[in-house]
Amino acid sequence: MTSIHGALKTHFGFDRFRSQQQEDAVKAIVKGDQDVFVCMPTGAGKSLCYQLPALLASGITLVISPLIALIQDQVEQLRSRNIPACSINSKLPPRERGLILADLQCESPRLKLLYVTPEMLSSASFQPCLSGLSSRGLVSYLAVDEAHCVSQWGHDFRPDYLKLGELRGLLSGVPCLALTATAPARVREDICRALRLRSPLSFSTPVFRSNLHYDIIYRELVPDQYGHLHTFIVKALGGSSGCGIIYCRTRHSCEEVAHQLTLLGVLAKPYHAGLKAADRTDAQNDWMQGKVPVIVATISFGMGVDKANVRFVVHWNLAKSLASYYQESGRAGRDGLPSLCRVYYSVQDQNQIRFLIQKEVARTQEKRGSEKEHDKVAMVDFEAMVAFCEQEGCRHATISKYFGDQKPNCAGACDFCRDPKAVRAQLEAANRLSTT
Ligand code: ADP
Ligand code: MG
Ligand code: ZN
Repeated sequence: MTSIHGALKTHFGFDRFRSQQQEDAVKAIVKGDQDVFVCMPTGAGKSLCYQLPALLASGITLVISPLIALIQDQVEQLRSRNIPACSINSKLPPRERGLILADLQCESPRLKLLYVTPEMLSSASFQPCLSGLSSRGLVSYLAVDEAHCVSQWGHDFRPDYLKLGELRGLLSGVPCLALTATAPARVREDICRALRLRSPLSFSTPVFRSNLHYDIIYRELVPDQYGHLHTFIVKALGGSSGCGIIYCRTRHSCEEVAHQLTLLGVLAKPYHAGLKAADRTDAQNDWMQGKVPVIVATISFGMGVDKANVRFVVHWNLAKSLASYYQESGRAGRDGLPSLCRVYYSVQDQNQIRFLIQKEVARTQEKRGSEKEHDKVAMVDFEAMVAFCEQEGCRHATISKYFGDQKPNCAGACDFCRDPKAVRAQLEAANRLSTT
């Protein structure tokens, strides 16, 4: 396999693969006898899984991606590495388009990667080019990036992605690879069905992270909420130089929680869209540099924040779905050290969020003037989050199952596995509270 590693170094300048999954996926794709499904978190290096095989194949790899902006980004990156890549899209000046089409019509085209949006793919003007390539056997792979766009259950459903199934009929014998970030099991199933993947080889980053310890606390059962939170933080940080994130739903609770914690002696800063941009940047920088150990934020915080020593992530309010919860709580423990993920669950909070989701759905339906199957998605996703909090069962197992992974060996890394009786007692106390 030296040629694969050689190509990784010469074309991309990387000494090694990012992960075992990335390496295994590349090797399977290079082998080329089966469809492949790649499921890894954002930033894990999914693009390389088709870019590298594209360079080792004799023909052209057709890459489907949902947005022209994403495509342009990738094409520029590839060109800066001297890799012949381009995209055909509606914004392309006619002259450039002519040059590309001429290359594609010649006997052995220079191009290795051709990026198109699904809209372009199904447009009449592109059809002759595509069937020309296909009939001459010049398509090496069909790579469908952001493949969750085929699913009604995904959050970026794109009807044009559904036409990709037909395309596979046209490109018979061309292996297909579907790539997506960690997705719920039903989205994975939709992808395989819609793209007609035939018993695909699957390469996924395991969902289970054994260093994360999950637990749920019923907020309404706690007499002194801030004191409880404070005790938790002191334990989670344990005198280390680590830090933590507390997610709240409203700006007001960000302010309040940060204020109360600071009074109790833990330095905490709020972060939300209501702050002046400069204050927000300050809060983020102070936290990044370790000057302030705790940031109390709305979910707008954390996109692209990659800090290794996050020792805890608290949800003071419920996340809007189990998928979001997994992503948000997963910002803990990137360094692999033990870290705590806690939800302060509240029935009142739950009812409020459910009400907001219903209102939002009703508003879109009113605007549209009709109901759609898709309208149920937000509520179903939220109910999965609620069930996660209210269940008697392993939290890790529930998360893994939700994403279609096998049952993990939790080994005491959640409240239920460590002390099932305590979890039951808490549930019973909460039930008594709600019926009195
Ligand atoms: P994803 O699509 O999974 O979100 P990308 O394909 O955009 O991730 O890759 C994220 C970054 O990781 C890119 O800058 C890419 O160059 C880099 N990368 C990919 N594979 C490797 C590797 N083996 N070694 C180092 N960096 C890599
Ligand atoms: Mg990507
Ligand atoms: Zn468990």
